[in-house]
Amino acid sequence: MKPTILFISIAMLAFLNAKDQPKIKLSLLHDNNYKNNAHKIESEQAFELASQIFNSTEFYNAIKDLSFVYPNHCLTCETLDYSRKTRIPGKEVLQRLFKNPSALLSFNLEEGECRGPLGHTCPEWENKEHETTTYYLADSCNMHELETKYRLAVNICHEYMHFIGYCHPAKMGIEPQNGDIPNAINYRDDIAYRVGWIAYYICVEWQKKSHSLK
Ligand SMILES: [Zn+2]
Repeated sequence: MKPTILFISIAMLAFLNAKDQPKIKLSLLHDNNYKNNAHKIESEQAFELASQIFNSTEFYNAIKDLSFVYPNHCLTCETLDYSRKTRIPGKEVLQRLFKNPSALLSFNLEEGECRGPLGHTCPEWENKEHETTTYYLADSCNMHELETKYRLAVNICHEYMHFIGYCHPAKMGIEPQNGDIPNAINYRDDIAYRVGWIAYYICVEWQKKSHSLK
């Protein structure tokens, strides 16, 4: 094959992959009571970033070949589904993530405390207000090296996994205890934590490159 034809074929393949990759747009309700205008602006930027993270090829490729224990599935906000022994393929997580191409969420940006929980969100079938909560002090202690918009975006990606029905398989002994910070190695089987870590490393790279929101 001539180099020119080969180049065109590779370029077409890349175009097709980008085109075929599903997309999602997360948006926030604009009637939230933010403490100050900076919080409002950073929250809007974080929602845009969270959508861009989910829609990135880096994110898609990082998830597609993974698998997770079945009790990531929530039955309710507090209880897990232990009904099967099979694992959840990464592709199934992606299908669920991109099932609705848009989501409108009510974002509670609350103070919380350093070393406390980063946020909480119940699955959509018992979350009629579509609320998600992030604690900005915990977020800032946990990811101090990232700018606020990136820190919030990482947490929104994590919380959105809860919204679509994945809880922490806490009873399997992999939930952090006594305020410990979740560790990237120990949380491989937990969809929300794994998504959070993938989003975190994408944000570290984007921050280095001064990623544009537009
Ligand atoms: Zn969580």
